[in-house]
This record gives sequence, C-alpha cells and structure tokens, in this order.
Amino acid sequence: MTSLLSADEVRFLARHGYSEEDVYDGRYQSKEGRAAAAKEAGKHLVLAGVIGRGNCRRMGHRLRTRAGHCIQCKPTNIAFQRREDTPGYVYIAGSLSGRVIKIGTTGDLNQRENQMRAEGYGGSKDWIVLFSFYVSKGGEFERAASSRVKGNRVYRTYFKDGIEQGAVELHQCSFGEALRAMTEHLSDDERKRLTVFRSNNTGRYEFEYE
Ligand SMILES: [Zn+2]
Repeated sequence: MTSLLSADEVRFLARHGYSEEDVYDGRYQSKEGRAAAAKEAGKHLVLAGVIGRGNCRRMGHRLRTRAGHCIQCKPTNIAFQRREDTPGYVYIAGSLSGRVIKIGTTGDLNQRENQMRAEGYGGSKDWIVLFSFYVSKGGEFERAASSRVKGNRVYRTYFKDGIEQGAVELHQCSFGEALRAMTEHLSDDERKRLTVFRSNNTGRYEFEYE
C-alpha cells in the first residue's frame, strides 16, 4: 500500500491519526463496490481515483471516507467516519417533559445522561437513559436504528453556554417503538451476546402520537 500513496497523502493521514493501513485501495471499483469492500476489510478510508469537481479535482484529492466524501477538502469528514466505527453504548433516552425519545451512542452512559440534563439537550432537562447495550460500531448502529423508527422526527436547537447548538434529531414515538427499531433485526445469537441495561421506568415513556 505504501507505494500507492504520495508523501503528501501519507503526511495528511498521519496528521489525523491514520496510516496507510487504514486505507482501502478502491481505485478501480465503483463507489458502491469500494464502500462495501472497505467495510468488509475493516478499513475506515478509501483510495479512489481523482474524481469530484472543481477544487477537489484540481488538487488531485484521492482520500475519501467509505461513503465517498473527500477528507482532504473537509477533514471533519474523518471525525464522522471515526464516530461511525467507534465501539460504544447505543442507548434510548426519554424525556417526559418533551414527550420525545432520543437514540444515541456514547462511551459513558452516566456522563452522557448528566450532560444531556445539564445542557437541556434538545430543550429538555429531564432525560433518562431507558435502555442500552454495547456495540462495536456505535455511530453506525445508532444511525441505522434511528432510521428504522416509525413516527415523526423533530429537530430542535438549544442553547449551550449561550451558543445555539445545531439541530438535534428526536423521535416522537413510544419507548416500545424505539426498542423495536433498535433490536428487531438482531439474530438470536447476537441477542444472547448482548449485555443489556433496561430501566424499570420504561412504562412511563410509551408516548402516544396520532
Ligand atoms: Zn477534495
């Protein structure tokens, strides 16, 4: 792999905590093909041919996330990819005052719960974690589970230290619906291997929406 990358590319990776080892050579594959193969190979990033438009092409950028986003134009894409692949607790949290459910992922459940309350995350201060288990790819699991939830999504901004935060995605659904979205697709084998936390209070979070 080493010879495939330019010195600039290797330096760029090193600056962001990656090496050639993290890059899948997908130059001769379709975007979809290389995304799947890179995932299979456990690689976070891909090497693509020089594609894209404008500045990206002119600069000869080839390093991308598996989803195909240039990390050289926009290094914040790396943080997104890393979050997708980081092990952590996926959780369902609920707010009685907001009558909303949040599906998220974190490395530390207690700290996350405290933080959501202190920040007034999404406009509520009474968050509690209702359900959780540990997975190897936290961000990816969270995103997939969240997309399976039926019901309305609401997007709320809130203020943290006087600064308006980007909108967060919350669900107007029952706890049971979030639980279904998070666990329904798991095989019996996967279920057996999970260590699950479940609150005794979930009954109060079976919000009903039309
Ligand atoms: Zn670029």
